[in-house]
Amino acid sequence: MNRRRRIYEGKAKILYEGPEPGTLVQHFKDDATAFNNEKHDVIDGKGVLNNRISEFIFNKLNDIGIPTHFVKRLNMREQLIREVEIIPVEVIVRNIAAGTLSKRLGIDEGTALPRSIVEYCFKSDELGDPMVSEEHITAFGWASPQEIDEMTALALRINDFMSGLFLGIGIKLVDFKVEFGRLYENDLVRVVLADEISPDSCRLWDITTSEKLDKDRFRRDLGGLIEAYQEVARRLGILFENEERPEPSGPVLVKS
Ligand code: 5GP
Repeated sequence: MNRRRRIYEGKAKILYEGPEPGTLVQHFKDDATAFNNEKHDVIDGKGVLNNRISEFIFNKLNDIGIPTHFVKRLNMREQLIREVEIIPVEVIVRNIAAGTLSKRLGIDEGTALPRSIVEYCFKSDELGDPMVSEEHITAFGWASPQEIDEMTALALRINDFMSGLFLGIGIKLVDFKVEFGRLYENDLVRVVLADEISPDSCRLWDITTSEKLDKDRFRRDLGGLIEAYQEVARRLGILFENEERPEPSGPVLVKS
């Protein structure tokens, strides 16, 4: 029986009290939601895959000096993280037009953008995460100008790193969403990457076929979500067919 104290339950994850003060356990559920919870399903195995993929990416980001909340993966569905105060701003980075940008501005999906574009959304389920400007963020006190600068610089570094990582395994990083938190250490406050990075929060397209390997398979009723997430994990070198307990190796280079 699970006696841990539940701190928070979101659409795809639960946060439990961690083993030590200042830590939490992040549990990945199989729930898939879209369009502000209008569409909901449970997809067997999604949480396990997202836990592994997010672990892999956060470890790599930690390795290149991006500060994150991630400590270690605990089991198939859970990871140990440091407790942070979530900044209520979602940072989206786009390399190729898709999704709401295409809809909003009438730009065909798949059009390469002249440069990477950063957008901010206010984290609010009731309002459907509306897009906001830096003016809104500072005027309403969601983050300071310095924190916005730090989040933006980190998001762009993450974009550069992940674009290369995915390119090497035959995948285009179309866009993604990240969240940040304030980590309090003694008298210091640091902005660190929080939440998760997985095919739930990125658009990932196969480089040759443009096949969608992300949550758009669910949003757009394309089917095959688990197979797509497994393919991302397999190419990252963290999932092998016919292996019961896969061990991480490294990205598998895709030959063109
Ligand atoms: P769009 O604004 O086009 O819907 O999304 C842009 C990118 O951010 C996509 O990769 C999408 O998956 C991600 N994204 C935007 N909002 C959310 C959100 O609330 N949750 C998750 N998991 N991803 C989001």
